[in-house]
Amino acid sequence: MRVLIFCVAVVAATCAPLADAPRELPPSSAAAAVATQAGAAAPIASVAPPALPSVSPSPAPLPFAVPTGLPLAALPPVRFARPDPVAGARRIGIQAGHWLTEQVPADLRGLESATGASWGALTERDVNVRVANAVAAALRARGHVVDVLATAVPPGYLADAFVAIHADGEPSGRTRGFKIAHSAYPRSPHDVALARALAHDYGAATGLPIDPALTGRMYRYYAFAWSRYSSAVSPHTPAAIIEMGFVTNAADREVLLERTDQVVAGIVAGISRFLEAVPRQEVYPDDLVLTPWPPFTGRTTVP
Ligand SMILES: [Zn+2]
Repeated sequence: MRVLIFCVAVVAATCAPLADAPRELPPSSAAAAVATQAGAAAPIASVAPPALPSVSPSPAPLPFAVPTGLPLAALPPVRFARPDPVAGARRIGIQAGHWLTEQVPADLRGLESATGASWGALTERDVNVRVANAVAAALRARGHVVDVLATAVPPGYLADAFVAIHADGEPSGRTRGFKIAHSAYPRSPHDVALARALAHDYGAATGLPIDPALTGRMYRYYAFAWSRYSSAVSPHTPAAIIEMGFVTNAADREVLLERTDQVVAGIVAGISRFLEAVPRQEVYPDDLVLTPWPPFTGRTTVP
């Protein structure tokens, strides 16, 4: 009998790491937060990118219901200064979900044991790492600079796009499909476009069905939560999260393991579509003035 182990305490299907203990920034931290954003950009190599394939800049609306209009914290807004324009290749952060969870900072200590979904000896983490590295290689071949990121993302990470890669698991083995989300709370004005582009191309490339059961573990993903955690990307960085399919479902597993090239192609095409639709000079259009996320009210969990 196969033993199934799930990262999400079996209550939720998604295995995206969720925030546990909150770490709200006091208003006085605003200036420090801005300084972190400005200082977070690593040097970007000057590489002439090859021509990208022609892509439609207007994919269909996101077929997942990310909540809007959620109440925000009763705290003063925080201004994040527009990052200095940078030249050269586009920069993309690809996070391999659950990778190196033992290296999380103290405020994410609850994620140390969040090793992700599994099916027998197959772990979600290994699938995520394999796909993330292949996506990175494909994007680098197109002339982009790519950072493969672990569970602990660099504080204030600044890039043209950030995509967190996860896979799902649930006990019955029947649930299948992929889902994609952006933050439910205000961040980059381009979050929605990135999620829409990924959804458009991932579904087309893999033929996987949509799992409409989006969860707060995705749209409240800790790496989006700039006011809660040190290990969060800059709110200027367009960000999305994908659950590629269920490692616990035979049909999804066949796609993830035997047709990984289609999985990778879908993610690469979605990111490429987004980069073409949002050129470098438009990624950070202005200062962001954002009200902090609400305090985390759930009990501490270990996803
Ligand atoms: Zn996960």
